[in-house]
Formats: sequence, structure tokens, C-alpha cells
Amino acid sequence: MSSTPLIPINPATGAPLAPLERTPLASIATIVDASQRAQRRWATLGMDQRISALEGFAARLDDPESAERLASEITAEMGKTLREARGEVRNVRSRLRDFAARARVAAEDEVGREGSVEVTTRWRPFGVVAVIAPWNYPVATPSNLILSALLTGNGVVLKPSEQTPRTGAILHEYLVSALPEGLVGLVQGAGEEGRALVESDVQMIAMTGSIATGKAIMRSAALDLKRLVLELGGKDSMIILPGADLEAAARHAIALGLANAGQACISVERIMVHPSLLEDFLRIVGGLVSAVRVGDPRDEATKMGPMASEAQRSIVLAQLADAKAKGARVLIDGAARSPGFFLEPTLITDLKPEMTLVQEETFGPVIAVEVCESAEDAIARTNASPYGLGASIWGEPGPALEELAGRLEVGMIGVNRGLSAAAGGPWIGWKSSGFGYSRSVAGMRQFMQPQSLARTVAEID
Ligand code: NAD
Repeated sequence: MSSTPLIPINPATGAPLAPLERTPLASIATIVDASQRAQRRWATLGMDQRISALEGFAARLDDPESAERLASEITAEMGKTLREARGEVRNVRSRLRDFAARARVAAEDEVGREGSVEVTTRWRPFGVVAVIAPWNYPVATPSNLILSALLTGNGVVLKPSEQTPRTGAILHEYLVSALPEGLVGLVQGAGEEGRALVESDVQMIAMTGSIATGKAIMRSAALDLKRLVLELGGKDSMIILPGADLEAAARHAIALGLANAGQACISVERIMVHPSLLEDFLRIVGGLVSAVRVGDPRDEATKMGPMASEAQRSIVLAQLADAKAKGARVLIDGAARSPGFFLEPTLITDLKPEMTLVQEETFGPVIAVEVCESAEDAIARTNASPYGLGASIWGEPGPALEELAGRLEVGMIGVNRGLSAAAGGPWIGWKSSGFGYSRSVAGMRQFMQPQSLARTVAEID
């Protein structure tokens, strides 16, 4: 058992932050048990009472000082700009209303009748949900799953990423300040503590992270048939066809491709451009890449902060080296800078299917442009990937473009815009990008199980 403390590193300086203790493995059962006991009462509350308790959590995010403390910790631990971190905190707050509305519909009884039999289907919580979080959106990703679990009557034990434990501790503090004692537990640690939590007496695991970890969790959960929602990695395509607004497409490529220094699951990872548009697109996108200001993430004028870790930067540099060795054309060569884990954005083209940059999730500030001969070619290449999180398609607006979009084997698609889970859409990855899903009415029901109750009633003629 590892007892070394967690020591997050500030990616902008490379300097260690104050250490934080890991949760002893022997304490995990007690934390889960406390959540279980609180959950039994929580499950009996009406939806209005649960929402009103969660409004107390939202009030902490509304408080400017508390919100700033959380945003600053995100920036200190994983390097995104303070502007992006503030946006992440604001988004969580603003989602509560939508989540509550979906949960209310999802929790409604359904009544069916056949002859003299009337069956009521009720939606019941599972019990305690282990929420296991990544470092890239250390507040937004666990909050989506925590709010879903709590609204539907479950308890929660949160395990933040070992790279962002201090952010996780603040998020936990804000939750417990508004909720019944014990209902939301906290386990601090890395893979070992995560494994122990998955193997504990929780009834469900809701995790956001890499495909490798998702598979490990699924294997472990299989022993007790625990329920799962796994939100995993992506390799999202952006397909640009004749008729597309190239300026808008280029802006989107930069906005999503370089958001969070490219470390977003729905980052634009592959841009597939029709040959007739290639040179124009490269010129426009190249101008935008050159204008991106990389620097101190706390500085208002900074567009992009450092990468979150040396390990993540090494993965990106190795993919770029492999692409260059195999003949890719580098139009803007992003330099790595230290101290800290800075990496300027790269614009690269002439990519080949055998390059790791094309095959694997890059998770870094790389605008990678491939040439696609036709819509068919771009769809075939996207669908050949084991990933299936998101995509966007750009071209002449209309039903033909939407028909092409529907042939992409991914969970979320944007047509002449980026994908979105707004307006009740689910957050869902197909193929290796996910198992189960969240958000939307159907997503809320992933956190509940149906129970039917049959009674005999007088027959209606
Ligand atoms: P990761 O898989 O390394 O870690 C995620 C979490 O799992 C961490 O808390 C880690 O400690 C824990 N963990 C590791 N091994 C475990 C085990 N055996 N059992 C239980 N828990 C274990 O992922 P990461 O590097 O933190 O995050 C980046 C990945 O997350 C990327 O692939 C990204 O695409 C993905 N992601 C997906 C979404 C989505 O919505 N689909 C959103 C954000 C990030």
C-alpha cells in the first residue's frame, strides 16, 4: 500500500504545490458505508427537497469568492487559463436547472394497463455511486455525474484525479456544506485507491477518463455486476466539404482544438478537408494559430496555458516526431518551453493513416489537417477509428449534409457548428469512447433502475 502523499505540480512553473494525504485503503469501506446510510434517507426525499439542497451547493458557486477560489485551484493544479477555469465553474452552476428538469421527468412513474392488470413502473436509485474523475475538467466532469447521481436519489463517493486533488477537495467541501452528513464522501488517491473504491460496496461506478482505465473498471465491476457509466477518450473528426463557411470552420477548429491546450475529450483531433478547400483553409487557420498567445494562465491576455503535465506533453511530442519522420508537412512548428510544460500550437498536414497522430488520441495543441477526397472518404476514415465520441461536419446547409452526419459512427455530432449536449441532449460516446451515458432524460435513468408494481383493477369495457 502506498502512503506517499499526493504532490500536485503547478504546470505553469513545474513547482510542487502543498501535498495532500491519500485516503487510507482501510478507510474506504467506512466512507462508503456513511454514504449508504445517508442515502437511505436522501432517497425518501421528494425531488423538490433534493433540488433545494443542491441549490445550496450552487449558491457556493454563485458566491464570487468561493467561485474564484475553486477556479484558481483548477489553474494552479492543471494549468488551464483562469478565464477557462472560471467558465468551467460557471457552467456547473448553470447546468443545475437543466439537470433538475431532466431528473424530474426521468423520475416520474409510468402507468400501463392491460385488462384487469395495472402496472406502475417506478424509478429507484441504485444506492452509492463512485464518481471517478479525470484531471482535464476536474470540476465539470465529476459535477455532471455527481448531480445526476444525487438528483436521482443516490449517494456519492468522489475520487478526484491524483493530479488535481486540491480542486477535488474544494468541490467536495462545497457539496458537503449543503448536503446531509456523509451523503457525499471523498477518497483521495491514484489508481490504487480508485481500484479499491470500485471493489468496495458501491452499487455503481460513473467514471470519466481514459479507455484503458475504463476497461480496467469494467473488468473489476463485472465481479459483482456493478452498474457503469464510462465517459472515455475521443478522436473527434471535423469534416469540411464544399459549401462550408471556411472562416467559421477555422474559428471552430481553433476554439475547440486548442481549448484547454487541446486537452478536451471533444477536442478537434482530426480535420478532414476536401482538396478544393485545402490551401484556403490552411491559410485561414494558419493565421489564427499564429495569433494564439501562450503564456501565464493567470494572465487575462493569455489564450492558452501550459499542458497539464510533462507526461502529457511527451505523448504529444512523440506523436509529432512520428508524423514528421513519416513525411508530414509542418506549417507551424510549436516549440516546447520550460520552466513549466508549455507547448505552442502546431499546424501540421500531409498526414498518413499509419501515423500515431492519426490513430491515437493526441490530447494536445495540434491542428492536424488531412485531405479527404470526398464525404464518403471522410466518413469511412472516421468510422474506421475505434473511437466514437463526437464529430462535426461542415458544408452546404440542408438535409443532404444532415444525412451524411447521421452516417458517422459517433455519439454527438455538430452540423456547421460544434457538438452540443444543450437542450436536453445526451453526453454519449459510441464504441470505445464510452459505455452508458449521462445528461438528458435517458441519461438520468442510467442512474436509476426501474421497479414494476402490479395490481388488479376493475376492467374497463
Ligand atoms: P485516467 O484514466 O488516467 O484517470 C481517470 C481517473 O481514474 C483518475 O481519477 C485515476 O486516478 C483513476 N484510475 C486510474 N486507474 C484506475 C483503476 N484501475 N480503477 C479505478 N480508478 C482508476 O484519465 P485522465 O488522464 O485523468 O483523463 C484524461 C482522459 O479522460 C482522456 O482520455 C480524455 O479523453 C478522457 N475524458 C473523457 C471525457 C468524456 O466525457 N468522454 C471527458 C473528459 C476526459
